[in-house]
Amino acid sequence: MSFPRSATPLQDVQRVLCVLAHPDDVDFGSAGTVAGWVDAGIEVGYLLVTRGDAGGFDDTPRELMPALREAEQRAAAAVVGVNHVEFLDGYHDGILTPSIELRRDITAAIRRFRPDRVLTNSPLRRWDRIAGPSHPDHLAAGEAATCAVYPDARNPFTFTDLDLPAWTVREIWYSGGPDPDHVVDITGTYERKLKALRAHVSQTSHLEDLDGLLRQRLAATASAAGLPEGALAEAFSVFHTA
Ligand SMILES: [Zn+2]
Repeated sequence: MSFPRSATPLQDVQRVLCVLAHPDDVDFGSAGTVAGWVDAGIEVGYLLVTRGDAGGFDDTPRELMPALREAEQRAAAAVVGVNHVEFLDGYHDGILTPSIELRRDITAAIRRFRPDRVLTNSPLRRWDRIAGPSHPDHLAAGEAATCAVYPDARNPFTFTDLDLPAWTVREIWYSGGPDPDHVVDITGTYERKLKALRAHVSQTSHLEDLDGLLRQRLAATASAAGLPEGALAEAFSVFHTA
């Protein structure tokens, strides 16, 4: 499959909504980039589709997991300067589908927050990394968010019961998909990304060398993009939607 090159990101972006399947997705894939946007004065909001209730690695009682992971995500968001954090109700980790109900709920969030840009999980499976990035919940959240960006949120005749004015999101960024070619140098915000990931205690505290693991991955992304030695980077696919 040939894959199109990323578009040049829009320069007049004022608001970005990040729509992700699970708490920690935005931090693993994008927290360094988000911190840079916040530094640049962009207003960033998070919309988490689930509370990651099937995640974790220890014997934490399962019924405590949703509230625990919500709190962890809020703490991680605060580290990178994001205070607008919403969670959808009624969707569960591990069994997410790109349903009309999910499209409707994401559309409502878009029409309220009115972002110029949406960042989301890629709806495309990576055959070389089926575990991790291509979790079916990620594919489902990415597909539903894409449908919400086009056509749902901008079509005034869709989901009229929401009683919210239509809104056109002009650009979409995908994380975790195949052949990401828009590379963001996050060397300057890396420490905040690491701290945000450490806030997801239930997900990362068992990793012996989170710092080393992250640096290795992010340095490989930077080096593949021709950034100078020592640089760290996150990579995306970026498309205009208008
Ligand atoms: Zn995830």
